[in-house]
Amino acid sequence: MAVVGILGVCAGAVYWFTTSQKTGIAADLHVYAPEHLSALPPVLPESANTVPLGVPPAAVTGTTGFEVIDRQADGAPVAWDPCQPIYYVVNNARAPEGGPELLRGAIDKVAFATGLRFAEAGLTNEDPSTSRKFVVDQYGNRFAPVLIAWVSPNEMPELGDDVLALTGTRQAYTDPAGSATVFVSGFVAFDGPAVAELTAADREAVVLHELGHLVGLDHAEEESELMYPELRGTAALQDGDLAGLAALGRGRCFPNL
Ligand SMILES: [Zn+2]
Repeated sequence: MAVVGILGVCAGAVYWFTTSQKTGIAADLHVYAPEHLSALPPVLPESANTVPLGVPPAAVTGTTGFEVIDRQADGAPVAWDPCQPIYYVVNNARAPEGGPELLRGAIDKVAFATGLRFAEAGLTNEDPSTSRKFVVDQYGNRFAPVLIAWVSPNEMPELGDDVLALTGTRQAYTDPAGSATVFVSGFVAFDGPAVAELTAADREAVVLHELGHLVGLDHAEEESELMYPELRGTAALQDGDLAGLAALGRGRCFPNL
């Protein structure tokens, strides 16, 4: 069973990791040491936004067939702020042929299913790291944009063997009581050469699956779902996946973050 457990309670911010492997079940979660809230960057211009930039399809309202990475005290999923775009940068160093198009297509599907808006902030040479900070010098004094990196195990040793990809999301608590949490940064690292060996359907499935983690989905228990941690030769988002993505698109806004 690929159930990801909570390994600790942190008072600041945590990275949650999930991995995708070539065979069998893969779930791995590490909670890294929290950083102090004083490390948060200043308010961004976008932070005045109080209206969601998009909404998920209204008809998708299911509550089964998916798991979320974390929940608020009131049970709502921890999600990204729908009132701000999710900025991302891409490292194409070891992207498979068609990788950029594959990524954009998958982002479009996740954006539609969640209502969340993604904004490409350019290319980067940054290599992914499990110790990535949520403020990275080269991007200025703000939350680091999500890093989506096509690399090899040379650049990220956690990849390789059976690990095809690894996603980390960074949360920040936004009030002293720690009762409201929002994703503020993250990364997705793909083993580009290994992904290149997959079928087209499995390649798309891996990218969609990792983006599902990025927006807050955990592994599903149902084998039929794309968030089930095994490749099954199809890249179609299933009912539980879509319900989970819709739920994650209905998060609250954090205008003061
Ligand atoms: Zn996974």
